[in-house]
Amino acid sequence: MSKKKYLVTGGYGFIGSALIKKLINHSDNKVLNIDKLTYAATTDSLKNLEKNKNYFFLKQDISNFKTLKKVFIDYKPNIVIHLAAETHVDRSIYNPKKFINSNIIGTFNLLEISKLFYNSLSKKEKNNFLFLYISTDEVFGDNEKKNKPANENDSYNPSSPYSATKASSNHLVNVWNKTYNLPTIITNSTNNYGPYQFPEKFIPSVIIRAICGKKIKIYGDGHQSRDWVYVDDHVNALLDVTKDGVIGETYNIGSKYQIENIKLAKLICNILDKLVIKKPKGVIKFQELITFVHDRPAHDRKYNLNVEKIKSQLFWEPLETFDTGIFKTIKWYLNNKDWWMQIKKTNKVKF
Ligand code: NAD
Repeated sequence: MSKKKYLVTGGYGFIGSALIKKLINHSDNKVLNIDKLTYAATTDSLKNLEKNKNYFFLKQDISNFKTLKKVFIDYKPNIVIHLAAETHVDRSIYNPKKFINSNIIGTFNLLEISKLFYNSLSKKEKNNFLFLYISTDEVFGDNEKKNKPANENDSYNPSSPYSATKASSNHLVNVWNKTYNLPTIITNSTNNYGPYQFPEKFIPSVIIRAICGKKIKIYGDGHQSRDWVYVDDHVNALLDVTKDGVIGETYNIGSKYQIENIKLAKLICNILDKLVIKKPKGVIKFQELITFVHDRPAHDRKYNLNVEKIKSQLFWEPLETFDTGIFKTIKWYLNNKDWWMQIKKTNKVKF
């Protein structure tokens, strides 16, 4: 039997690398990782795969139609899992153009090329083709004033340039399914956390700033509430969707564990108090480093997803509790200082 060929975009990102590690565990799979290697990419995460004969990497910008088309012709994927995106909300506010190019134009290119490629396939090959788009709970916008969690059919109401580009892509993906019969599925996940998340994101930044004895900055009053899913649980959900998901459908993914940013920052500080014996100079308890800063414009207060569909139809359940997941994550950042110190030195990224 021939191997299943996965084309993963953004495979050197936080979620993409966790996904590729799982895909490559199956000897029946081949994986081509297409990544532009932006500041957010981490090649270290897949170092062990460099010599794996089922793993391939191509440095490639998905906003370049011409070169991307050639990749499809040469590689002939069965399953496209599209994660590549600019992902930091703050950056989207200050430089939205990059988000339009990578997140909207990039998705459009992948859909168009997938459509052309799909139309060239035999009936049997068509039955094995899937385009899976990885999206976010942020497309539904602020849930604070709603009396129920957002379900898959709720209308999109994004608040940031980032979430607007993701919602645009969700629309494009659905339309390429309806109009051109491209076999697509969308997943909307809540906030992910775990190893190798880029240090500017909330959980890593709280951990790293605390360890370095820097002020831990919390936007506004800190009462913004998020649902947190461990990255491997998200990846398991994606694998379930590629296996049993229904074409044309959307699946929400989340843990139903919700916590306000300020409470989460304090929880991390409390764990660090126990794990870090030698604290930075002048620090007795890490919570002393927490400080409130001016809120982000249009900062959504609450995200809240209804995840019953994936649970009841695909029997997906998160394996990690927040307690076990956050403990593992903090330990990982403590044990992998070299990784984030290197990013700090070479990447000129503030965190
Ligand atoms: P990330 O920022 O860690 O990684 C993104 C990757 O995409 C990087 O490796 C980057 O080099 C690559 N990339 C960016 N622009 C590209 C382009 N034009 N061409 C090719 N590669 C490009 O992101 P992540 O946190 O792993 O998120 C992956 C996907 O999951 C994104 O689409 C994001 O919207 C979605 N998502 C993330 C979360 C989360 O909490 N992290 C939650 C829900 C959905």
